Amino acid sequence: MNIFFLGTGAGMPAKLRNVTSIALKLLEERGAVWLFDAGEATQHQILHTSIKPRRIEKIFVTHLHGDHIYGLPGLLSSRSFQGGDTEVTVYGPKGIKEYLHISLAVSQTFLKYPLTVIEIEEGVVFEDEQFIVEARLLDHGIASYGYRVIEKDRPGTLLADKLQEAGVQPGPIFRKIKNGETVTLGDGRVINPSEFVGPVQKGRIITILGDTRFCQNAISLARDADLLIHEATFSAGEEMLATDYFHSTTLQAAKVAKQAGCKQLCLTHISSRYDRDAWGNLVTEAQGIFPNTDIAADFKEITVRSS
Ligand SMILES: [Zn+2]
Ligand SMILES: [Zn+2]
Repeated sequence: MNIFFLGTGAGMPAKLRNVTSIALKLLEERGAVWLFDAGEATQHQILHTSIKPRRIEKIFVTHLHGDHIYGLPGLLSSRSFQGGDTEVTVYGPKGIKEYLHISLAVSQTFLKYPLTVIEIEEGVVFEDEQFIVEARLLDHGIASYGYRVIEKDRPGTLLADKLQEAGVQPGPIFRKIKNGETVTLGDGRVINPSEFVGPVQKGRIITILGDTRFCQNAISLARDADLLIHEATFSAGEEMLATDYFHSTTLQAAKVAKQAGCKQLCLTHISSRYDRDAWGNLVTEAQGIFPNTDIAADFKEITVRSS
C-alpha cells in the first residue's frame, strides 16, 4: 500500500509543485490504483511514473475547485487510448456528474470503458471485502470531503509446514483451517485452527483530506490513521489568512494529527509563496506539535506498512 504524490501545490500549478492529485497504489492488494483528485496536467505527471492509467479503478474527488478537477476529463479520455477497458468509478460532491457529463459531451469524447459517477453524501461511500471508504464534510466554503480508507483485517497466514509436520496433507482441509474451522481428522484428532494460523494482519487506515480549515470532522476521519495527508497551505502564524481563505496552517494540520492519534502526517497543498528553501521550516513547525511529520513533494512515494 503506497501513497504516490502526483501534485502537491495549492491553487495554481508552480514549477516545482503541480496542482493536487494523490495516487493510492493498491497493486499488491487488488492490482489497482485509486486517485484522490486530478488537478490540471495530472495525466502529464503520470507519464513520468510507473502508474498505468488502465489500472486506475476509482477516483475520489474531494471538492470541485479547479485545482482539484481540471485534469479529470483529459485523464479519463486518454485512458481510453492507453488500453483502459475496465470500469472507472468517480466519487465526488454534487456537481461532479454535470461537470464530467458536459466536458465529455461537448468535446465529443467517447470512452471505451464504463464510467460510473457517484455523487456522494457523508458516510460509507464504498465497501467490499477488502476496503471501506468513508467520507465526511470539511470546512472549505464549498462542499469539500475528506476520505478515510480503511483496509479490513486480513486473516493470518496458514502455517502449512506445521500442519504437514502434524501429518495433515494439503487439500480442501487447509482452506477450512485457514477459515477458522475446527477440523476432526480421520484418526479422531482435532485440529484447532488457532494453533495453525498466524496472527490476524491488522488493516491499515489512510486518511486523505480535501482543502479545509481546522475542523472536528478532520479529526474524526483521521482517528488512529496510519497516515494522514492534510493540506497545509500556509505556515504557522498565518492563521488569519488560513481562516479567511478556508485553508489550514502547518500547526493546524499537526494539531489534527495529534488529536486524532495518527501515526504519521504528511503535509501537502503547499502554497507557491513558500519556495524550496522554506519547505524545511514548514516541516519543523509542524514537528513541534506532531514529531512524525513529513512534507509531500511531486513524485514522492510513501509506503504504509502493516503495524
Ligand atoms: Zn486546492
Ligand atoms: Zn479548494
